[in-house]
Amino acid sequence: MIPYGRQDIRQEDLDAVIQVLKSDFITQGPVVPQFEAALTEKSGAAHAVAVNSATSALHVAVAALGLGQGDLLWTTPITFVASANCGRYVGADVDFVDIDPETFNMCPKALAAKLEQANKVGRLPKVIVPVHMCGQSSAMRNIAELVRPYGIRIVEDASHAVGGSYLDQPVGCCQYSDITIFSFHPVKIITTAEGGMALTNDPELAARMQLLRSHGITRDPERMTHESDGPWYYQQVELGWNYRMTEMQAALGLSQQERLAEYIDARNVLADRYDRLLMDLPLDLPGRLFGARSAFHLYVIRLHDAARRRSVFEALRAQGIGVNLHYIPVHLQPYYRDLGFTDGDFPEAEAYYSRAISIPLYATMTEAQQDEVVARLHDALRADQTAGQTPG
Ligand SMILES: *Cc1c(COP(=O)(O)O)cnc(C)c1O
Repeated sequence: MIPYGRQDIRQEDLDAVIQVLKSDFITQGPVVPQFEAALTEKSGAAHAVAVNSATSALHVAVAALGLGQGDLLWTTPITFVASANCGRYVGADVDFVDIDPETFNMCPKALAAKLEQANKVGRLPKVIVPVHMCGQSSAMRNIAELVRPYGIRIVEDASHAVGGSYLDQPVGCCQYSDITIFSFHPVKIITTAEGGMALTNDPELAARMQLLRSHGITRDPERMTHESDGPWYYQQVELGWNYRMTEMQAALGLSQQERLAEYIDARNVLADRYDRLLMDLPLDLPGRLFGARSAFHLYVIRLHDAARRRSVFEALRAQGIGVNLHYIPVHLQPYYRDLGFTDGDFPEAEAYYSRAISIPLYATMTEAQQDEVVARLHDALRADQTAGQTPG
């Protein structure tokens, strides 16, 4: 089976993790801050807060921004459910902005129209979460221009986009957002097994997210309500969670991020090669946003004919090609339907879903493996066409 994505663990990664296991600290030691520092350097953001998943990062991000009961969060329907769920964790309502069919990212035109409508009825979002689908940045400059006049805060869900760039700057620099979050799940660009990070240029937001990842507890006298009782003293000043990253995870991440540029180059070479090899098939290939370099977490093809998607998907799986589907529109999940969403709410997202297949792409994929995927895709499309033809 050629998987749709997989991690790359090398000897140096193993050594780094074992070194931590033999050291004095396996949690709350020196390696988490080292990993944070490495990613502030790579992304250009001033502060980084490592946590135990991107889902936790989204949660502490929206909580630090003060999102709560009665507030509204907007994201895109073509994402993993976590981008929307973070709003629900803090009691906010969630709504969606339809996608641009070329980039699969939040559509600035749809956003402009929805903002105008929301402003009329006095129901603007407090936080907006654009998602960098497949690793390609959303049109952040346009999005920021549209929402900033209303004082709406921006959290970039860059779970797919660690190592990508936009307008000559690394994704994560937060030029057009308040906070950017990364995921280190094994299928993503670099991994800590489970893990995530929130980046920001705002020292106050960074301090709040640090508090919230560890129970709302502080040892900083500046943040206490009265003078310390003694050297043992700490205070819980807010309600937080235990979202800390372990030292082993940070050691793995610190070792992995050394190869970030190598991974992004390899993924882009493979993606360009797919573009060439698949050009003549009855497919739409991923659209490129001008000024963005994708991290290419995913390569999504869309069949011209939605009616053939299922049989092509099944044929590929049967031939050992680990295709997948990213994503089922979030608003059509039963949990969100129960909140009032229904079919037809976001037509571009639903049209995308009806035609999409994610084909294998990972940094260590060989050309031979890629050729195998392409050959099986040719077969699947041909066989399926033959089967569908009426005789005579
Ligand atoms: C993977 C992913 C997440 C959640 O990441 P975890 O680290 O698994 O919590 C959130 N948003 C998007 C877009 C993702 O792909």
